[in-house]
Amino acid sequence: MKIVTVVGARPQFIKAAAGSRALRREHQEILVHTGQHFDDNMSAVFFREMEIPEPDYNLGISGGSHAQMTARMLTGIEDILMKEQPDALLVYGDTNSTLATALAAAKLRIPVLHVEAGNRLGTLDNPEEVNRKLTDHCSSLLFTATEDAREKLVAEGLGDKAYTVGNIMYDSFLHFAGRPWGSPNIIGLDGKKVSVPDSFYYMTCHRQENTYSDEPLTEILSAMNSLDAPAIYPVHPRNRERAERICQKENFSNIILTQPVGYGDSVQLTKHAKKIVTDSGGLQCEAFYAGVQCVFVLDYVVWPETMVGNRNQLAKANKEDILQKLSAEQVIDPAYQPFGDGHAAEKICDILREKFPMGRNDQ
Ligand code: UDP
Repeated sequence: MKIVTVVGARPQFIKAAAGSRALRREHQEILVHTGQHFDDNMSAVFFREMEIPEPDYNLGISGGSHAQMTARMLTGIEDILMKEQPDALLVYGDTNSTLATALAAAKLRIPVLHVEAGNRLGTLDNPEEVNRKLTDHCSSLLFTATEDAREKLVAEGLGDKAYTVGNIMYDSFLHFAGRPWGSPNIIGLDGKKVSVPDSFYYMTCHRQENTYSDEPLTEILSAMNSLDAPAIYPVHPRNRERAERICQKENFSNIILTQPVGYGDSVQLTKHAKKIVTDSGGLQCEAFYAGVQCVFVLDYVVWPETMVGNRNQLAKANKEDILQKLSAEQVIDPAYQPFGDGHAAEKICDILREKFPMGRNDQ
């Protein structure tokens, strides 16, 4: 098959690392980068380190309102799809590019393959929920990370297209987690190399809900600053200025602010951390894979499967709440593996072979 895959944001690069490796064993893949994340440490480092093939196209679309981004991606991908005439379009997750490119393909009657389908928060107030729901409804095949997500699709009448394959991020995690942590390449905001302390917490925080003003981020940082070991915090470019200013003003000397780190370092920070505090969907799952306890700072649960045995707990952007959740002990049941076996990409290929035995005309 000839498959056009679209990526644009950091978590999509991490998923595509596993996806492209498996797809290219038996298919022709055309990779499109939307340009959403473009800094070296938010984009190129993942292509280099994770051996993701060079994109065939870069749409160069970043910034602007949701409508502006979606509209530019719709027209940008339509030109590529008309030129390439692929047998399918493959999209990951729930960004604006996921929806825009799925919509363009569906209108051209090109089958859409959606990886990480079926995740639902239950509210359209969340812009990603709009993206993932509409993408699922115009897709031909839906690959879910968990059984719960497949059941959500069944409830929406999409069960006949849905397959539980496991979380493709787990494929990438396993690929990197087994490697030794040679020499971390973690760079501070001042441009100097950071040496990783023996004992530390790992945190990330970049969501709009926690970074739109000083208040929630100050609460989170204040909790981290009061812990018994330093917190390593690679800051997303979106809120770098705010995080730096708050740490200086409040004299939060127990927090090590760094530039975004590469995936290998993120996996090793995850594995070696005492505990993790984050608002990232991906990192809370990686904490779960690593068996490291996590506190997820947001108002709603994103991966309900992780919320067992105190392994991942929801906290408000409030110092006391975060510290209270961090003080709980976790209980791990090794038999509980809700995210599959780390072979999601291969399972997707197995299903494609079955559904498209000779390309699109046979579907
Ligand atoms: N990550 C990374 N470097 C960092 C911070 C995070 O490689 O400096 C990885 C992290 O391990 C996880 C993913 O990026 O796999 C999460 O991406 P992000 O937080 O941007 O997106 P979200 O998970 O919120 O969709």
